[in-house]
Amino acid sequence: MTILLSTLNARYAHASLGLRYLLANMGPLQEQTSLHEFVIGAKTTEIVERLLAQSPRIIGFGIYIWNVEESTRVVAMLKRVAPQVTIVLGGPEVSHEPGEQEIVRLADYLVTGWGDVTFPKLCGEILHGPKPLMKVHAGVQPPMAEIAMPYSLYTDNDIANRTLYVEASRGCPFKCEFCLSALDKTAWPFGLDTFLGELDTLHARGARLFKFVDRTFNLNIKTSLKIMQFFLDKLAANPDDPVYAHFELVPDHLPDALKDGIRKFPPGALQFEIGIQSFNPAVQALVSRRQDNAKAAENIRWLCEESHAHLHVDLIAGLPGEDIDSFARGFDQLVSLKPHEIQFGILKRLRGTPIIRHTEEHGLVFDPYPPYTILATKLIDFQTMQRLVRFARYWDLVANSGRFANTLAQLLGESPFANFMAFSDWIYARTDATHRIALERLAKLVAQWLETRGMQRSDAEALVGSDYAGRVDAPAEKARPAASVPQRQARHLAA
Ligand code: SF4
Repeated sequence: MTILLSTLNARYAHASLGLRYLLANMGPLQEQTSLHEFVIGAKTTEIVERLLAQSPRIIGFGIYIWNVEESTRVVAMLKRVAPQVTIVLGGPEVSHEPGEQEIVRLADYLVTGWGDVTFPKLCGEILHGPKPLMKVHAGVQPPMAEIAMPYSLYTDNDIANRTLYVEASRGCPFKCEFCLSALDKTAWPFGLDTFLGELDTLHARGARLFKFVDRTFNLNIKTSLKIMQFFLDKLAANPDDPVYAHFELVPDHLPDALKDGIRKFPPGALQFEIGIQSFNPAVQALVSRRQDNAKAAENIRWLCEESHAHLHVDLIAGLPGEDIDSFARGFDQLVSLKPHEIQFGILKRLRGTPIIRHTEEHGLVFDPYPPYTILATKLIDFQTMQRLVRFARYWDLVANSGRFANTLAQLLGESPFANFMAFSDWIYARTDATHRIALERLAKLVAQWLETRGMQRSDAEALVGSDYAGRVDAPAEKARPAASVPQRQARHLAA
């Protein structure tokens, strides 16, 4: 095969949408192009051997924050054992600050930004001349209607076993300084009817789990409603074989028409990922995030109380101007709204994002290695930041996992952040670990913690035991939700 498109995905279940877009847009070169996905953690020699077994002339790599280190090793090895193969890079991680990156130094060419048109053009020039003179090629953004959609490239195996990423639009009109989408300044929609036609074909082929990567699903309400109606029609026609759709929402924009649509979805069919990031207006202003906090809180409460949507809400620790007290207040406020999951992220310095303008004034110290996590700020020292990192991990294990649904309220009490931080510090002191804690052991530790907080041992064990008895994957299982519902969401549904 002449041209290979390759990347290392974070998990096997993540099918790369970016590579499929490139393949769909290769034009006359498509027949000579094939796709080769790997998963991080794979042996470098195996990846290189498998790629070279195709006898490629060109290999294009999709580079992301999660794979840049391993991809650098792959490219370095390729350049040693097969220097005749031309290496082209693309993807968000190498689209900014390319001069500072080892992988860019090793590669032959780089396409920054949109690759749909520029990558095939560059490949044509590499194969047939004239030889491209420049190493870095700024990706040309074509009219959306000229971009071929990639959905037919999802194989039957992808449909059966992997998350299907889809997008009705690219870009975001907001300018949150920690986010790469802030550089877009606007959003560009794909032709809606064509897009829905593609979804229809995927559904007919058996796809039931659709993850929208649009940064703001509820930007254009007319479009949102049409997309939701597509799924409602599928649910009505096939109630015993339901679909599951995941969208990202901005929290302060939920007009009544959208609420009416959302209300119609049954349990286990809809998930929203909602970014709050910070409830502190001063922090929001510093990072240029426009958000009506009162409206956002009201909408999250409405979604929790009046809809069946599964809610995954994001907060970020380590933003400039945020100290522990202000973060704790935001966390407690969010817990009181009762979303199913709180994604407690730690700020990362994504290449190209304007957040670095605060570095000096706010004492931002980032890890120099991917994923460039914040290590300290003027208001949160390194040790405290590490406590927050562990908090986030334990929160995921205990709260977001849905495995301790009955116990969680007891664990959090009236001061969720303070109480969970105390639990997090205690469990870390006991285990010295944040990973590889078996579920049985974790349950015992949770019960012991409750005991140290004054609960009778028998009561603590009974409470934790009630979660065990009710959990979805327990042997004495309740009615299992539809197969399209991801496991963690299924646990929340069953709680
Ligand atoms: S955080 Fe969300 S709203 Fe803000 S720029 Fe990024 S995608 Fe847009």
